[in-house]
Amino acid sequence: MEALDRIVIGLNNLSVKARRPRVKPGQILVLLPSCLQAGDCKQNVVGDLAGCRRCGRCRIGPLLDLCERAGVAAALVKGGRMAVKLARQEHIRAVVAVACEKELRAGILACLPKATIALINRRPHGPCTETDVDVAEVEKAIRWLTRAREY
Ligand code: SF4
Repeated sequence: MEALDRIVIGLNNLSVKARRPRVKPGQILVLLPSCLQAGDCKQNVVGDLAGCRRCGRCRIGPLLDLCERAGVAAALVKGGRMAVKLARQEHIRAVVAVACEKELRAGILACLPKATIALINRRPHGPCTETDVDVAEVEKAIRWLTRAREY
């Protein structure tokens, strides 16, 4: 099933690139999974990233720095329902979503026809715990959507 999900994700990303949407930073939402958070972090960051102290123990701090520099909204979500609700906000035209294959496939389909660039997370500790993502890949996706050279 994961292999099939990867095919759907790959085709989706190719189709977004073929459509070449051009969006403003204020129309982009970066959706991050709650499992990015360090396992022993006590900060309440789900739904409100202002709680993150950017202590450097997980990838959330650098991702927040990036989103601020780029002027795009970011949210840390637990579960697909919350992600889809945020992505369907009227002013959001494009989403950069980080998650596992299954969540990404479901999210892409639920958010159509909005453009979703889907980035598969890394799971060095297994599923749903202390996952990771390459910040440069998230930046590349935002830059591609906004045509900016750098952030
Ligand atoms: S960067 Fe933020 S979310 Fe991650 S461990 Fe530190 S305070 Fe917690």
